[in-house]
Amino acid sequence: MSDCDVVVIGAGLAGLGAARALRAAGRRVVVLEAATEIGGRARTAYPEATGGLWFDLGAIWLHTAERNPLVAIAEAEGARLIRADDLRSRQLFIGGRRASAAEAAEWDAARRRFAAVAETLAAGASDLPLTEVAKRLPEYPWAVTAETWESAVVCAVDARLLSLRDWRRNVLSGSDLMIEGGIGAFVARRLGAGLDIRRHTPATRIDWNGKGGRVKVTTPVGAIKAEAVVVTVSTGVLAAGALAFDPALPDDVGAAIAGLPMGLAIKVVLRATAPDRLDLPDHCSLVRRVERSGAPAMAFQCWPYGRDYVQGWVGGSAAWGLAAEGDKAVEAFALDQLRALFGGRVDRLFAGGARLVTRWDADPWVRGAYSYARPGSADARAALARPLGDGRLLFAGEACHDGMTGTLAGAWLSGERAAAEILAVLA
Ligand SMILES: Cc1cc2nc3c(=O)[nH]c(=O)nc-3n(C[C@H](O)[C@H](O)[C@H](O)COP(=O)(O)OP(=O)(O)OC[C@H]3O[C@@H](n4cnc5c(N)ncnc54)[C@H](O)[C@@H]3O)c2cc1C
Repeated sequence: MSDCDVVVIGAGLAGLGAARALRAAGRRVVVLEAATEIGGRARTAYPEATGGLWFDLGAIWLHTAERNPLVAIAEAEGARLIRADDLRSRQLFIGGRRASAAEAAEWDAARRRFAAVAETLAAGASDLPLTEVAKRLPEYPWAVTAETWESAVVCAVDARLLSLRDWRRNVLSGSDLMIEGGIGAFVARRLGAGLDIRRHTPATRIDWNGKGGRVKVTTPVGAIKAEAVVVTVSTGVLAAGALAFDPALPDDVGAAIAGLPMGLAIKVVLRATAPDRLDLPDHCSLVRRVERSGAPAMAFQCWPYGRDYVQGWVGGSAAWGLAAEGDKAVEAFALDQLRALFGGRVDRLFAGGARLVTRWDADPWVRGAYSYARPGSADARAALARPLGDGRLLFAGEACHDGMTGTLAGAWLSGERAAAEILAVLA
């Protein structure tokens, strides 16, 4: 492989963001991607479970659209954006019954109170687990549901394992947009265009000891030398030791990786085989009151675009446990959760229908959904993003962004930031 100015490892959003910025500045960039496709955790499929309709296996929303750089890029590329907030409606359940209007108002009040208490605690002297918030709200029957939503559902980790301070820094606000046709398809089609991307080429080792002021990246098909390298693989891949570093990474960087493990979120799609729609409108979200911290709970979106499937989402230790048991266990859990709300109709409705279970834990190049910070590790993201080797080794990726971690936008911005740091050094 011929040498270049900068090697970027990984063609997910962070790698593509970095590579595009470096190329725009006139640098020769080679992107090494272990998988056969680019996009990383942005990947679109067309499964039988959705009747062949596009389905994003990983990311789907452009969160916080008002300050999401990908919105302008998508618009400039002519993508059609769907305003998810205009489509969604919500149905709340307590046990097997629908919540009343008064109970729904209690849910809204609990969420507001949860946010206010979290704000106060996050500003305190020590970094607590997120579970501390609901403990202070015993008078709010929906407080544990708010906790579950903010931890297992949004952050893909149980509240007891999640740094309150990190959670607070990365709360998403504003509107959510979707790209028609799928974000994965958009990324694959548009964002890699014009870049030198070597697919199916995993980096196995990085020599960054600065001999001759250059770095060397080894792959199974040869080595490549460059002025600098940007590493965008997930903290799951880093923790697994799949990528060797010579010299070894400094202790504080190792500690940062250990402090930012991967959470897991599983999507499951169940396709209906009967006309019953469970008396639910299209695009409707189901939220069931959670009575105990850490209790496994699946959130559902039903009949998107008027189609004949429902999509479940489970995160945290429940997801890891189900993943260990296999896809059938995930499907059975989804059906159980629906049965608790709609009874035996569910079995008739989904009998024999196509199904899909997403398994990011089983992807060796990702190993989970996205990173979370353990209590006490809220500053690990900044530690991981710190340039090493006189600015020739940089980490980027969703785990390195403080503000929009665990998102496409956070990954993209971290890639652009790494590119800017390298350009400053090379200049
Ligand atoms: C189920 C799920 C739902 C999500 N929903 C949303 C959402 O709605 N909105 C949102 O904004 N975000 C969402 N996210 C998060 C979002 O997908 C990620 O934050 C983002 O895609 C991460 O990008 P990245 O570039 O940091 O990492 P990745 O996408 O993981 O990219 C890293 C790349 O490195 C490659 N790689 C790994 N090891 C090597 C190696 N040794 N050599 C070469 N290449 C290697 C990988 O194959 C991968 O392509 C979701 C994620 C999941 C899993």
